[in-house]
Amino acid sequence: MSGFKDECGVFGVWGHSDAANLAYLGLYALQHRGQESAGIASIDDGKLFIEREMGYVADVFDEARLSRLPGKSAIGHVRYSTAGDSSLSNAQPIVFSSGRGPLALAHNGNLVNAKEIRAHLEEEGALFTTNSDSEMILHLVARARRDGLASALVEALGEVRGAFSIVVLGQNEILAARDPNGFRPLVLGTLDGSPVVASETCAFDLIGATYVRDVEAGEIVKLTDAGVESIRYAFPRPTPCVFEHVYFARPDSLVFGKSVAASREAFGERLAKEHPVEADIVVPVPDSGTYAAIGYARASGIPLALGLVRNHYVGRTFIEPKQAIRSFGVKVKLNPVREVVAGKRIVLIDDSIVRGTTSKKIVKMLRDAGAKEVHLRISSPPTRFSCHYGIDTPTRRELIASHSNVEEIRAFVDADTIGYLSTEGMMEAFGRPEHATCAACFTGKYPVEIPEAEAEPEEQISEQPAGLEVGS
Ligand code: AMP
Repeated sequence: MSGFKDECGVFGVWGHSDAANLAYLGLYALQHRGQESAGIASIDDGKLFIEREMGYVADVFDEARLSRLPGKSAIGHVRYSTAGDSSLSNAQPIVFSSGRGPLALAHNGNLVNAKEIRAHLEEEGALFTTNSDSEMILHLVARARRDGLASALVEALGEVRGAFSIVVLGQNEILAARDPNGFRPLVLGTLDGSPVVASETCAFDLIGATYVRDVEAGEIVKLTDAGVESIRYAFPRPTPCVFEHVYFARPDSLVFGKSVAASREAFGERLAKEHPVEADIVVPVPDSGTYAAIGYARASGIPLALGLVRNHYVGRTFIEPKQAIRSFGVKVKLNPVREVVAGKRIVLIDDSIVRGTTSKKIVKMLRDAGAKEVHLRISSPPTRFSCHYGIDTPTRRELIASHSNVEEIRAFVDADTIGYLSTEGMMEAFGRPEHATCAACFTGKYPVEIPEAEAEPEEQISEQPAGLEVGS
């Protein structure tokens, strides 16, 4: 059960003649939230249909496959999970046939008490078809005593803790819910009079839907032929994830009601004030550092220059499961523009440092291309803690900032200087107080308690992981 970590995107549409195609396009726009598997479930005449496969959305679905998803309502899911848990059996939507009829579920987030719930359910004889935490929710729904799918879901959600933005497809409705902390995003929209939900508004833009509002923390939204109904099932304690704005979400999305691009520019502006440096050009690490670099350049008056080019036709560095391939991946994906960087003092901007291997390679690439100085600036604080709420971060001991101070990190990546955005600076630029935000990957303050079984033993963290020795 080590695979309780998902980065995911979800989508749902109720009562539209083009449901499966819309789900396909919605997932296409959400591809950045998970590249490992893609799936769509639809309902027609009380019968559930499911198509899911490992791979990118565009590779998994073709017209023939979409035609096997009849009906006017559908949900979809894109998934990335940690290595070792990468199998089709864990691909979503998860489908289930229960006393309440067929059900399908798509989940983004991570439950922190899934192990406990699973152990309890197994004791009572439950059988599981996946080793993902998401299946717990369906089991709890199936076993709930209350009548009606929405009431059963309220009962089930009372048992789970952690992060979930979920979409459940039943015979007569789609239920879309966010956990009481609202860790992960979920937005409600409308298209040709049909309600739609998605992880991010970029999915609405592609299908031509209009954004209506966020599904609120602690809210279930019920989509039926009669329209949209709101059920407040838990007291909201919103702590949305700031890392969605730092890195994870698409810059053209509204997430938690805010423009992701605007947040990133604000992080960059603030970074320029906190860590100024004399330099000739500001160079973003594309794409993750681009908007922060625009902000840094504007605030510092140093011109922005596109000194690194990304090959967009390869998957994200982070997605590769083995260290050796990941290092190779940096070179495959990024290449310096010699004419832009040669002889220049460069402010290099990226959104975050995880293991440090990417930054190290980029600094070396820039120096090899003739850069005179490389000053690394990071538009978030040091990533020192693992995420337990659905962003795939490695274990703490693999996070370079969990065991190295800023000067040691500078030495490791071989930059002339380094500067990270402060937590206060990030929160001010984000426009939310720290106590009303999840910034646990930076601060270690987890808004929902992590059971001991999930937490990493302290003694393992101080050791230097072998992966960091890898040179360029
Ligand atoms: P690393 O080489 O491990 O330091 O990776 C740093 C790069 O990974 C940065 O360019 C980030 O934009 C990116 N990154 C940060 N967090 C994640 C994540 N959870 N998933 C994928 N990529 C990430």
